[in-house]
Amino acid sequence: MKPPRRDEGRLRRPDGSPGSVFVISAPSGAGKTTLCKRLLEEDRTIEFSVSFTTRPPRAGERDGVDYHFVGQDEFERRRGGHEFAEWAVVGGHRYGTSATRLREAVARGSDILLDIDTQGAMNIRRLIPEAVLVFILPPGKAALKDRLEKRGTDGPPEVARRLSLARGEVEKCLVYDYVIINDDLETAYRQLRAVLEATRCRGARQMRRIEGIVQEFASEP
Ligand code: ADP
Ligand code: 5GP
Repeated sequence: MKPPRRDEGRLRRPDGSPGSVFVISAPSGAGKTTLCKRLLEEDRTIEFSVSFTTRPPRAGERDGVDYHFVGQDEFERRRGGHEFAEWAVVGGHRYGTSATRLREAVARGSDILLDIDTQGAMNIRRLIPEAVLVFILPPGKAALKDRLEKRGTDGPPEVARRLSLARGEVEKCLVYDYVIINDDLETAYRQLRAVLEATRCRGARQMRRIEGIVQEFASEP
């Protein structure tokens, strides 16, 4: 078998089939970043959709890697130019998914991972019905509080604000295709990988390869 081609540092699948869109949502502190980072490191055929945001960067965040950090005017200009597949206001800041990046990734055969909120997830489902929606649920409220505190990025008022926001988010989890309860991290990661692998086994995803095999059977010996 020929080695897969590289594209933007990510690998293209050798069977030439289009990529799938994975949407991941979770209340802050549930472990979404931890799980997604590991997935992106270990699986070179899935890429991350870098969103645009008007939120200022946090310590350690890199422009163009974690987000494209833009001002209000630039965000509005892009929104007016229909550059976003979806956009939403979250916690007072604007966030948008690049439509071009999404389209190009799927066309080149890369799976793409969107870390977006529940409003964005519903909009992506309307736009791309075959997108796979995954919700990362913490095992309980106490565990979420504990994780937010241990992460150490937010003080007590911000932890309290995130916990109250979590209520509205977890209520929507049953609308998702898959709910991964992140209690034991290894189990949750294994389940996330299983969702990815199951999606890759969909018949529609392997059309070209399947057709080749079926044709071979149809031809005379
Ligand atoms: P999110 O991106 O959803 O806000 P993070 O990935 O930043 O959450 O995780 C929040 C904190 O919880 C981090 O300190 C992380 O190491 C920790 N964490 C993630 N998953 C687990 C788990 N299954 N058990 C215990 N701690 C976890
Ligand atoms: P944070 O500011 O903590 O990185 O993200 C806040 C929330 O915004 C998270 O729930 C994250 O998933 C969501 N988010 C990030 N990018 C986008 C986007 O492009 N669209 C939408 N709808 N939500 C986003």
